[in-house]
Amino acid sequence: MTNKVVIANFKMNKTIRDTKEYIAELIPLITTSKVVVGICPPFTAIKSAEHKLKATNILLGAQNMHVEDKGAYTGEVSGEMIKEAGASFVILGHSERRSIYKENNILINKKIKKALKLGIKIVLCVGESLAERGQDKTEEVLNVQLSEGLKDVYANEMGNIIIAYEPVWSIGTGKVPTNEQIAQAMQNIKDTIKKLYNAQIANSTIVLYGGSVNENNSKDIASIKGVSGALVGGASLDAKKFAKIISNFS
Ligand code: PEP
Repeated sequence: MTNKVVIANFKMNKTIRDTKEYIAELIPLITTSKVVVGICPPFTAIKSAEHKLKATNILLGAQNMHVEDKGAYTGEVSGEMIKEAGASFVILGHSERRSIYKENNILINKKIKKALKLGIKIVLCVGESLAERGQDKTEEVLNVQLSEGLKDVYANEMGNIIIAYEPVWSIGTGKVPTNEQIAQAMQNIKDTIKKLYNAQIANSTIVLYGGSVNENNSKDIASIKGVSGALVGGASLDAKKFAKIISNFS
């Protein structure tokens, strides 16, 4: 059985100092080796987090990267830059990037291919809006986001990609889908990957759930068929809560 994966997405929270203090608090609270833990601080804190994480198994990721290598893109950060700072993986396709920064599947696909080329692993976020769920379009949305997002990604590269199912209506809202809804989405994702690649890749692809995961609901979410871990926003900001979530997935 593969280990579970639990990843913290700080979003635009925590300074360099906050991140260092957080890591110092988190390390002794992790008492299991059965969970692969990752944290994604803001760009500015990646390098100092790398120093703090050196003697640990905690993985370090970035929350985004630009699709181009370099150039006149004021305010942007490239894949090479996040890698140099110490990130081994990057979150791509987060719903906040899709909605606020208008990132579409074509751009996300280009970023995925760039990250793969640079040897950066990827957490690809997919998920339906409330309106799409209301119109019974969840399966279709997941299908399109995956097939367009993974276009021209080779089968032998899929081991570098984790999928995070994040219903948009659940992110930061405290609303969590039913266990059946999550299990169904996990199945839809596996079915789509099987169609795009094969059954073996579908089975081995790690699929996380993300959306209002906290220290109280994580044990239940961890028990849902197909859920290999969690991508955690709000509740990951508190090291104690995040450590409890990690332990609930062990
Ligand atoms: C997220 O931002 O990926 C997320 C899941 O946020 P939250 O846990 O706060 O819903």
